[in-house]
Amino acid sequence: MHGSFTYPFLVVVVLGSSAAVSAGTSDGRDPFLKSMREFCEAREKSSAHKPALTPEQENHKDFLSALPTRKPICGLHSKNFGMVKSKTGARVMHEGIDIRTPGGKKVVATAPGKVVFVGCADKFAGREDCHVIAVMHGYGLVTYYSGYAKALVKLDQSVCRGEAIAESAAGDLHYEVQVNGVPVDPMSYIQDAN
Ligand SMILES: [Zn+2]
Repeated sequence: MHGSFTYPFLVVVVLGSSAAVSAGTSDGRDPFLKSMREFCEAREKSSAHKPALTPEQENHKDFLSALPTRKPICGLHSKNFGMVKSKTGARVMHEGIDIRTPGGKKVVATAPGKVVFVGCADKFAGREDCHVIAVMHGYGLVTYYSGYAKALVKLDQSVCRGEAIAESAAGDLHYEVQVNGVPVDPMSYIQDAN
């Protein structure tokens, strides 16, 4: 039961931050992206199996690690990205995916990043949802998670891919990916099959 979101205040935050992010390069010289990737690599060192990267991929390591390839939570999709029919029969844009989930499960960050928003945001219909988290990943990529039960992260916290950021509520989790402020289909990034 989600409409499109409006995040007027977030746009300012995100644009402000992405200016700094895009000033860097994709060859690992951007301090924010490099430190974010290294922070998460250090955590994963002992356990993770890492696929070998081609020399071309090595040059774009920061970019590749910033992509939101995880699914935020296991579950069936109750609504896809794109035009959907509202209760009144009107066609409206659904700017993310909804994932059906039982309560009490972990909602995870889908890529490494920094928490840039935790709190209330206005929904399309003017209804306020006070369970919204936004994570900035660099390269203009921001992910949004809403409709959970309890936030487990604070503003400005660094998170790694797969790290729990919230506890789910029974029902639908709305998940959104934006590139430079424009919502895109999260499925074009998700690589895990859960
Ligand atoms: Zn939704």
